[in-house]
Amino acid sequence: MKKLFLVLAVWLLAAYSGYAQSTLNAGQKPLPRIAIAGLGIESSTFSPAVTLEPAFHARYGPEVFNAYPFMMPISPLRKQALWLPAVVGKSLPGGAVTREAYESLVNKTLDTLRKYGPYDGLYFDIHGAMSVQGLDDPEGDFLIRIRKVVGYKTLISTSMDLHGNVSWRLAQNTDLITCYRLAPHEDAMQTKERAVVNLLERLKSGKGKPAYKAWIPVPILLPGEKTSTRIEPSKSLYQQVAPLADKQEGIVDAAIWIGYAWADEPRNHAVVMVVGDDKAKVTQSAEKLAQHFWKVRTNFDFVAPTGTLEQSLAQALTSPKHPFFISDTGDNPTAGGAGDVTWTLTQILARPEFKRADGPALIYASIPDPELVKKAMAAGVGGQVEGKAGAMVDARFAPPVPLKGTVQSIVKGDRDAEVEVVVKVGSVHVIVTQKRKPYHKEADFTRLGLEPRKADIVVVKIGYLEPELYNMQAGWIMALTPGGVDQDLFRLPYKRIQRPMFPLDKDMKDPDLSARFVPLSGEVK
Ligand SMILES: [Zn+2]
Repeated sequence: MKKLFLVLAVWLLAAYSGYAQSTLNAGQKPLPRIAIAGLGIESSTFSPAVTLEPAFHARYGPEVFNAYPFMMPISPLRKQALWLPAVVGKSLPGGAVTREAYESLVNKTLDTLRKYGPYDGLYFDIHGAMSVQGLDDPEGDFLIRIRKVVGYKTLISTSMDLHGNVSWRLAQNTDLITCYRLAPHEDAMQTKERAVVNLLERLKSGKGKPAYKAWIPVPILLPGEKTSTRIEPSKSLYQQVAPLADKQEGIVDAAIWIGYAWADEPRNHAVVMVVGDDKAKVTQSAEKLAQHFWKVRTNFDFVAPTGTLEQSLAQALTSPKHPFFISDTGDNPTAGGAGDVTWTLTQILARPEFKRADGPALIYASIPDPELVKKAMAAGVGGQVEGKAGAMVDARFAPPVPLKGTVQSIVKGDRDAEVEVVVKVGSVHVIVTQKRKPYHKEADFTRLGLEPRKADIVVVKIGYLEPELYNMQAGWIMALTPGGVDQDLFRLPYKRIQRPMFPLDKDMKDPDLSARFVPLSGEVK
């Protein structure tokens, strides 16, 4: 532990002296000057929640290095350039970003970029599924504005989440582009590092911008819960990327984007891109990936059984094994849900089975409501509390839910929730939080005095279960409940995505999956 602290301390110290440290290495041949910038969030336009600037926890200047283990002062990559980090912000998923927050973060980035130019390169670190109020394709907009500051000679390398969206203008204004090859994203850092390595390689070798960028829109829109690369058909699809991208002379990188299903914009759909100098190989590789994707489209399915809430509760109540987990998927806060939809809890509390204290033990995680938390704190542990909870942000499906019960615990200090209380209503333990919080770990429950392993049913606002919960479950179903990230895409009121789109439109004709060549950055089209 001590050693870890020492390493961290040295790292932080060195990170803060970032510019100076890099300059020292500028010995014989001048090192390339590379900026770092980017904003990352996936935000749902189907949720009334909004995201404000503090949610991005923006890092400025040398603090940016701390976001990347491969940029530690001792890292070989760190020594290969004069790094000039501007602003990098990452937010938990949420509702659309306010225009004000977006403009503020973009302007801070541009101001810093103006100060330290010129740049040989820029690493653009984005997620790709940001929605901003009143603005389409924010990442494309952001990159165009960066280009206006840094110019078109600067080589830009972009890394993204595979749930991001790649518009034509984003593709045009970047020179190199890539995304994760795994979902869950175990290769997130590796992907960012690859984007930086490719950028350095093109700069140092003098090869500059790759000559060809193939872009193929694939008219498919699927939720992440159907496209995990741990199972088929995504597994085999994504396994083709590395051999095409990393082993072929003349190819710099290849990538497949699933896209983001919970925003209603023309750019939201799957995309394949391959970048390189060999036109024939770039074309063949891109078309191979796009065609494979289209061929297996009907095989994508949920990673767990799904049903309505009613079906899910029926299964949970009759299951001989416990704890039985139900994912309340429509309001999953880590996918962009508001987190305070009360629809599911309202249905549960209305059921006769749970009205008696000795009914089936059910834990519900969770509902945010600062007022009810205040009341519970005033009542104290063991006291009675009565009030309404939730639906302050998203009341479209159910109004605030009346809760009347005993306060079982009050815990302060959680980073996200700040204060958590457990209120027992009938046989249901309801977790109420001051601020929204995802419940992904066993300790999230046990620290509140709850015993999820001994419960009959555990209902969590989540999509697929995180590993600790998955290992605990004796049965599991994903309830297709309503909310800002409804997994049943057929229920979402899309108006602006391109049509036809699989699987929303039946009997689609095969689309044109031939490679389209995006003009190089700075080339007019
Ligand atoms: Zn993702």
